[in-house]
Amino acid sequence: MSGTSEGPAPATELDRPVVTESEIITSAGTDPPVVRAPAPSPPSYRSVFTAAPLAMAVVDREGLVTGANAALAGLLGRDQDTLTGAVAADLVDLTSDARTWHAYREMLRGRRARLRCSRRLKHPEGHALWVRVTVAPLPAVDGGVLLSVADISDHRELQERLRHVRMHDPVTRLPNRTLFFERLAKALEAESYEESGTGRIGLCYLDLDGFKAVNDTLGHRVGDQLLTAVAERLTRCAKEAARTGTPLVARLGGDEFALLVEDSTGTEQLADLAESLLDAIQAPFDLSGRRLSVSASIGVVERHAAGTTPTALMQAADTTLYWAKADGKARWTLFDPERNAHRVTRQALASTLRPAIDRGEFALEYQPLVGMEDDRVHGVEALVRWHHPRFGTLTPNRFISLAEEDGSIVPLGRWVLRTACRQARAWQLEHPQGPPIFVSVNVAVRQVWDSDLVADVADILQETGLAPELLQLELTESAVMGSSGRPIQTLKALSDMGVRIAIDDFGTGYSNLAYLSRLPVSVLKLDGSFVRGFQIEDRTAKASPADEVIVEAMVQLAHRLGLTVTAECVETSAQATRLRRIGCDTGQGWLYSRPVSPDRISELLDTPGVQAGVGNP
Ligand code: C2E
Ligand code: MG
Ligand code: MG
Repeated sequence: MSGTSEGPAPATELDRPVVTESEIITSAGTDPPVVRAPAPSPPSYRSVFTAAPLAMAVVDREGLVTGANAALAGLLGRDQDTLTGAVAADLVDLTSDARTWHAYREMLRGRRARLRCSRRLKHPEGHALWVRVTVAPLPAVDGGVLLSVADISDHRELQERLRHVRMHDPVTRLPNRTLFFERLAKALEAESYEESGTGRIGLCYLDLDGFKAVNDTLGHRVGDQLLTAVAERLTRCAKEAARTGTPLVARLGGDEFALLVEDSTGTEQLADLAESLLDAIQAPFDLSGRRLSVSASIGVVERHAAGTTPTALMQAADTTLYWAKADGKARWTLFDPERNAHRVTRQALASTLRPAIDRGEFALEYQPLVGMEDDRVHGVEALVRWHHPRFGTLTPNRFISLAEEDGSIVPLGRWVLRTACRQARAWQLEHPQGPPIFVSVNVAVRQVWDSDLVADVADILQETGLAPELLQLELTESAVMGSSGRPIQTLKALSDMGVRIAIDDFGTGYSNLAYLSRLPVSVLKLDGSFVRGFQIEDRTAKASPADEVIVEAMVQLAHRLGLTVTAECVETSAQATRLRRIGCDTGQGWLYSRPVSPDRISELLDTPGVQAGVGNP
């Protein structure tokens, strides 16, 4: 219980006429008692003191009561005679709080002008009594003080009731967001966890799955009933799970609940709690004759209280809840700092993508596309890398999807296209003796939609002097399948220009060859997963024949439809042998070469025929 002490105030109050209790209470803020009309004739102050409805005691400089009035005896439920000689500070509990106790002693020494505080006392009849205690100097009584005590129980009760309303959710009657954050902030104050307990804190952040559908289809009344029933089950779980203390169960809003575990003992405790919450929610609910089944997702965070803040803890809980939802709902997920770091990196990358293009932080590596029959480099695929000043060299799967999300794939894609075409032309000029190699450039869907790809390609080919036949564009199956309108027109225009279109990662999407053949596509790049299916060398073993049969059928069909086939991820010569037998035209993979710098490709072009592994650094 905290007391409040206040600064200087007018000297003695006993010299003044007495005021009513209600006036004291209404002026209870900071002002001294209100002074009304003067007494009609010089009264006997003692009689006024005795008869005053305001409870008072005169206290000597030793802190002992030298006189108390009937009102004080009545208020404290004590015999008036027993008050004289009593230790005043004990009567109104001025000792339990160090600050108040210090201020009171300062008053008795005459070094302080006034003290005022609220105290919760225990009435001898057992009930609680809230009082406002004012201590003022009484110079007439040789260093003594006047102690006045006003009953503020009604006022406090009203205040508490208002606070309860303000801090609780009317639907479920659970503590609301405000109370939750108040408790959380308090739990994270150093004094709270340093003095006792484990110094740890845990949080289950729960969100019902599909609650909106319940509200939308069955109405808000049923929705509210469900929330109330959920609240009851959570509260029951919290009570059952209590080890060090019952977790606070709060409704944070909508269908979001939180359980705060102060002094948690470790992640295991929180995991057990989360598990029991899921179990409790899983049992069907009977709501006005309706049986409803719902599930919930829970984000679980458990950590040292030191060094964390309410915001950090809630952010972690929020992220973790999001993971639980993304991982398939109806589950709990524990906060994972590594997964979070990845998310943070994503954000950091997203914000620096665009300027990085201008700063020249991107570079291209090239990976040979090798003829299965002649082992010659026919072309190369351009693969972008980001030499990030903070995170080192990043491969495209770290940033291409980000670039697609924020649209920076358009300028980045244009840079890749220009750089690759310029490089291909340079190789051609460097090696005039042999047949020139083509360059294969990956194109993201968004480049087709959000930019004039046809114009960009035409401009770049003209600018770099590369023949259209030496450019191949790789699009994924999903980018071209089922699409109509703009992407198809774009493909047609590019193909008419003489540029080859390849379908990248073929086999992972719709794999509709018949449809593809009607598009201006000339190359299929078989996804690496097919080749990986060949890994078992022994053809008599059960493992791989199915994959091989499928690939063989695909290759035959593709050929009949006029398409050539490139196999991705060729890592072993056994795989290459089978791909050759099946009829694949080109191969790409570590067997031939990893993606390498343009200089390394120049060296390869100087070497007639690429042997297995020759291009590996
Ligand atoms: P992709 O177009 O299918 O490129 C092939 C990926 O497989 C490359 O990964 C390559 O390093 C890897 N790879 C090559 N040979 C082997 C092998 O034998 N075994 C295995 N396990 N992997 C192999 P990378 O460079 O990380 O590129 C990943 C993806 O990023 C590419 O897949 C492509 O979809 C995308 N990408 C790369 N550069 C660009 C670009 O400039 N623009 C766009 N839009 N996407 C790009
Ligand atoms: Mg590709
Ligand atoms: Mg691919």
